Amino acid sequence: MKRKTLGSILLAAFLLQGAWVAYTQNQKPPGPLRIQKIKGDLFMISGEGGNVAVYVTNEGVVLVDDMFDRNHADILTQVKSVTDKPLRYVINTHQHDDHAGGDLKMLPIAEVIAHKNARANLVDIKQPYYEDTPGTPIGLPRVTFSDELSVHLGGKEVRAKYFGRGHTSGDAVVYFPDLRVIHTGDLFLGQRGGKGPNIYVDYAQGGSFMDWTKTLDGVLTLDFDSVIPGHGPVSTKADVIKFRADVETMRNRLAAMVRQGRNKPEVLKVLEDDYGWRSTGCPLTPPTAGCLQFQQSDALMAELAKN
Ligand SMILES: [Zn+2]
Repeated sequence: MKRKTLGSILLAAFLLQGAWVAYTQNQKPPGPLRIQKIKGDLFMISGEGGNVAVYVTNEGVVLVDDMFDRNHADILTQVKSVTDKPLRYVINTHQHDDHAGGDLKMLPIAEVIAHKNARANLVDIKQPYYEDTPGTPIGLPRVTFSDELSVHLGGKEVRAKYFGRGHTSGDAVVYFPDLRVIHTGDLFLGQRGGKGPNIYVDYAQGGSFMDWTKTLDGVLTLDFDSVIPGHGPVSTKADVIKFRADVETMRNRLAAMVRQGRNKPEVLKVLEDDYGWRSTGCPLTPPTAGCLQFQQSDALMAELAKN
């Protein structure tokens, strides 16, 4: 019994070390970031990973998302370039490591908040990865919420709302009511040009293509003008309305293909040609940067067939 325990510990240590070596050997150097003013005391940091919102109050700073682990130091530098107030809160839009990858390094200096499903996904899957190497360190948010949570700081309010599944099962939309601005995480992508909404439904972490438009309908009940998307340039409410319509058109088209008995390669070809999904050169496993959409296509086919 004792020997077995020791064996398990050694095995766990070996696996952890392996993951750590893979992580440190494969971690990319951080890319350059920039900060721009959105409105009032609200700024956006972009350049790599997901967009980060920076809300400055006279009692401290609230961030929405914190990019990859590798961007941590530069994010702090960018925040310092607009305020000398301390960082107080980080709200995650979801758990992917291009949005919440900096959580572990934020935990000692700020309160990290996420939807309860986002935290559960992190606990469950033990990898936040979207682009980074398996083994990326995970920081579990200390505070979670179900439907709504507000941070009141320096006379200002930041409100995190949950409207249902879409990109994952734990997508928070963050509302700055005084400024009429929202941060949507990856429920909305501020694309310019392109052929259609290149969305990613993360089935492994509870996402749903079918629920996505209903969730956006909830988002559209908020009173806002400007939008910080998960990725891409600052957008408007009209852009979200158009994106919602495009997602619906895409879903109806694919569901019709499945109803007509078209097979997975045919559906994937449309996703590649018309929606920018990458499948050529993607292995079925392990999770590979840019391949996760393709690697979850069985779940997509199953959900389309149910409709
Ligand atoms: Zn994401």
